[in-house]
Amino acid sequence: MMSGTLYLCATPIGNLEDVTYRVVKTLGEVDLIAAEDTRHSRKLLNHYGIKTPVTSYHEHNKHRKAEFLVSQLLDGKNIALITDAGTPAISDPGEELVRQAYKAGITITSLPGPCALVTALTLSGLSTQRFAFEAFLPSEKKERDRILEDLACETRTIILYEAPHRLKKTLAELLEALGDRPVAIVRELTKIHETVLRTSLEEAVKIYENTEPRGEYVLVIEGKTQNEIDRQKQSRWEETGIKEHMNIYLNRGMDKKDAMKAVAKDRGITKRQVYEALIDAKDGDDS
Ligand code: SAM
Repeated sequence: MMSGTLYLCATPIGNLEDVTYRVVKTLGEVDLIAAEDTRHSRKLLNHYGIKTPVTSYHEHNKHRKAEFLVSQLLDGKNIALITDAGTPAISDPGEELVRQAYKAGITITSLPGPCALVTALTLSGLSTQRFAFEAFLPSEKKERDRILEDLACETRTIILYEAPHRLKKTLAELLEALGDRPVAIVRELTKIHETVLRTSLEEAVKIYENTEPRGEYVLVIEGKTQNEIDRQKQSRWEETGIKEHMNIYLNRGMDKKDAMKAVAKDRGITKRQVYEALIDAKDGDDS
């Protein structure tokens, strides 16, 4: 018997009209819909008059339930996966079902549509050229600190999901780890209270001292800029004179030319500037 197909169907992240014709048609035609919260998804299904049977597939039953869904797919049933919001498998239990379905040789297709991270990025006004999606920061302290440390060096635009009750703490920790940076705090996308607060991490911390965060949030933070990288490079060597800096490399056995190149790189200046600074230092010694 031919296996069925698994359809990953993107659903609205707020506004019920943000769903494609193809998703509505597919949800009406499949044999079974697997939904993260069946009561939540009922609103969407009722809105579009979809009568397909629905079963629950969520974080706490995903391993066992994925096995059942794969057995149904192997029996020839077509199944659509939807989650509470947006694109299945992005920061939700969808990933596990996709993994198990591939393992069983099932055909999978993804029907594109809303996704909070892409929608927030496009609205942020920050660079959309290169970006890093970090989903939710882990709650475990050690792991969270490790990721914050990595993010401090990230040069791409950073996108984070955050729950309202953790927003204040996360903003304070981001400020501490990354320093002050431009941030877009994107809230309640596609809903009545959609807002984009374009500010800095320091200002954001102040703003939320007097405001209780409510709703769903995406944080879009500017990556580390080249200026910042150069500034840090320079300040790291501020205490070290240029001759002393050269000697570090000469003592390691480098020839003069390579040492000048290394010093220039460390200090974020040109080889010519190193050369001139060495002459100035020498003149200073002579006088
Ligand atoms: N699969 C979803 C997607 O494609 O974006 C993400 C699911 S994740 C469990 C839920 C998080 O996405 C929320 O905590 C929030 O950070 C973000 N999110 C979802 N809908 C949103 C909205 N309408 N406005 C702002 N953020 C939203």
